[in-house]
Amino acid sequence: MADPNVPPVLYLEAVERRYHQGDETLEILRGAEMGCWLGQSVALIAPSGAGKSTFLHIAGLLEHPDAGEVYIDGIGTSGMSDAERTQIRRTDIGFVYQAHHLLPEFSALENVMLPQMVRGLSKAEARKRSAELLSYLGLKARLTHRPAELSGGEQQRVAIARAVANAPRILLADEPTGNLDPHTADHVFDTLMQLVKASGLAAIIATHNLELAARMDRRVTLRDGVVVELG
Ligand code: ADP
Ligand code: MG
Repeated sequence: MADPNVPPVLYLEAVERRYHQGDETLEILRGAEMGCWLGQSVALIAPSGAGKSTFLHIAGLLEHPDAGEVYIDGIGTSGMSDAERTQIRRTDIGFVYQAHHLLPEFSALENVMLPQMVRGLSKAEARKRSAELLSYLGLKARLTHRPAELSGGEQQRVAIARAVANAPRILLADEPTGNLDPHTADHVFDTLMQLVKASGLAAIIATHNLELAARMDRRVTLRDGVVVELG
């Protein structure tokens, strides 16, 4: 569990985000604040349109907030160059989307190898680690399959493996089981929780599934653009 005496690995401070649509301004985040600690899993539960994806994209340094700051390990990221932010994304942050976004022409193994090779690992080392990780996620017999040859649950487990391939300390998942049937969603979620516990990373997982959310360490929602603890 999280130790409140250590600083959070991820901290969002007074984050604001608005979108302009014609004459209208949509205020999506209005001073959202939240910390997440290593070893802690947080469920982000909020209705569609509340700003979950926006929040996760900002937390994952995929988008800039209009105001506020995202701290990784206590270091503000807004003043960083794009190259520095990209480097943090590659090494410290894993992202899982609702759709798997795997590269269709590559095998499961290759999809997990690629981010490691981008980071500088040798092909042999990346292959070894990817095979271990996919086996850990129950995909030992699927290494050479392409995404189209995998079930929805298997595709999502490969996407999870890819997200954690570089051993990030922060995992952000945007409704990762939203496209799966309840039974498969349960299985994928179990896998995800097992991985979070074993690796000790900090995880924020947006979900509509209250049963799954109940199995996480902490639950929060977005209400009027701010983060509210649900306990
Ligand atoms: P959620 O993930 O909780 O469903 P989102 O963060 O995707 O919510 O979106 C929050 C609101 O912001 C929605 O009303 C959406 O239409 C709006 N929105 C999101 N991205 C954009 C954008 N690029 N331009 C304009 N409006 C956007
Ligand atoms: Mg969303």
